[in-house]
Amino acid sequence: MLTYLAVIFVIALVAFVLYGFGIIMRRPISPAQQADKCSLCQVTFEKTRLVERRVGDSKILYFCAACIQKLQQDLNRTVG
Ligand SMILES: [Zn+2]
Repeated sequence: MLTYLAVIFVIALVAFVLYGFGIIMRRPISPAQQADKCSLCQVTFEKTRLVERRVGDSKILYFCAACIQKLQQDLNRTVG
C-alpha cells in the first residue's frame, strides 16, 4: 500500500515539475524586456533601435539615433 502511494506521489511530482517547466518555457518575452528609454530624451524605443553603452560596472545607458545625430551636430559646432 505504501509503495503504491509512493509511486503515485512520484508520478504526481514529476507531472507537476514538467507542468511548471512548460509554463516557464511558454512564457513570451514581455515588451518591457525588449524596449528601453533613451538616456537623453527619455523616449521609449525597441532595444534594437538603441545604441547601448556600459558606464562603470552596472549602469547601462541607451541612446536613440536622433540624440546621437544631435550630439554629432553639437560636436561639429564645438570642435568646428
Ligand atoms: Zn534620444
